[in-house]
Amino acid sequence: MINKWLCLAFLVWLGFAAALANAQAPTPTLVVPDAAKARPGQPFDVKAAVDAYLAKVPADKRARSDAYFEGGYWLLLWDFVLLAIVMWLLLRWRISARMRDFAERVTRFRALQTLIYSVQFILLVFVVTFPWTVYESYFREHQYNLLNQTFGPWLHDQLVMLAVNVVLGSLFLMLLFGLVRRLGKSWWVWGAVLSVVFLAFVSLITPVFIFPLFNKFTKLEDPRIKDPILSMARANGIPASDVYVYDASRQSDRVSANVSGFAGTLRISLNDNLLKRCTLPEIETTMGHEMGHYVLNHIYKGLAFTGIVIVIAFAFVNWAINAALARWGESWGVRGVNDVAVLPLAVLLFSFYFFLMTPVTNTITRTMEYEADMYGLNAARQPDGEAEIDLKLGEYRKLDPGPIEEFIFFDHPSGRTRITAAMRWKAEHLSDPQPGDATAK
Ligand SMILES: [Zn+2]
Repeated sequence: MINKWLCLAFLVWLGFAAALANAQAPTPTLVVPDAAKARPGQPFDVKAAVDAYLAKVPADKRARSDAYFEGGYWLLLWDFVLLAIVMWLLLRWRISARMRDFAERVTRFRALQTLIYSVQFILLVFVVTFPWTVYESYFREHQYNLLNQTFGPWLHDQLVMLAVNVVLGSLFLMLLFGLVRRLGKSWWVWGAVLSVVFLAFVSLITPVFIFPLFNKFTKLEDPRIKDPILSMARANGIPASDVYVYDASRQSDRVSANVSGFAGTLRISLNDNLLKRCTLPEIETTMGHEMGHYVLNHIYKGLAFTGIVIVIAFAFVNWAINAALARWGESWGVRGVNDVAVLPLAVLLFSFYFFLMTPVTNTITRTMEYEADMYGLNAARQPDGEAEIDLKLGEYRKLDPGPIEEFIFFDHPSGRTRITAAMRWKAEHLSDPQPGDATAK
């Protein structure tokens, strides 16, 4: 459960990484396909423009990114199955009970017992699932050319993440089991509240304390990029005075950016791949999108929606834990819901619930992403830059899925959905007054 939440926070915030360090790359130029060019006096065909953009991706590249993304559907299932088996064995072989017994021998303070148990648990699960992690996050990513790291630096990042998980995970579990022991039957309501508060806390500290563990942040000096971004920020009420660049290219070629923090910690960050691989219109539309997340308060809305999903999760887990313990508790050596040795059962049930809720959580994020797209189009007014960026995101996300497929598996809109929105925006704003137009007011 902790891993899942951390992953969520990482996905939201880390946005992820970026490009091959190719210093000699020529400055990219924005190439608008013929069918997407506006011709005065002629109607603009949105569908033809979308198809022309999608056709820019060669068939072999399309097949590759489709295979990568569709493989991800199965990984959702295998990740769950693997975790479920590990959790079940921890109970069945009474390993969980033994880890608790060890913690109780070391200290008589309950909070410290929870801490000692949590550290053992997180380390053990990391070790047992490590071969799968190596396949999924190292070999498979390399197989699709989506990872720039050799094994050493990759392992280093994994170990740093493990350390973060140990610290945040144990802290959360100490608080949670403290609540369970004090509140008895109503523990699940306050457990859900604690989880949302903790998630907010993690979201808050991640950009400032966790991102820099993986990537180096430097101030962007180039005024050709920095000035238009800060100008757009001012126009959208974002009080930022600097733009930061982070070296995502050490992990991959993926393009990303974010607007994070608040008040004193507010910062606009973009990754070096965006700088290296993209034209100014593409950078502007991306920053417009990220500013949309910020201005539309997506962090808080996301927390509210996730909060509802989490409350239902705790209600379900509470019910299922009691049912399972009544039947198998004794043979697993688990004394009750307030015994920390119950953790593998709780993790198993939470993963099962979130596995089933995948379409719901994806729809929550996908809806906000689409809103941010609209905001970005209005703020940056670069529909062709938007279409180009959508194609670049198509390197690791299927560009043209079916509607049900998109509903279930997509946490961002697909390339076709986003380019269609961009081209529709373009068609409906072709006659807008242009800058420098004498009639513009
Ligand atoms: Zn977004």
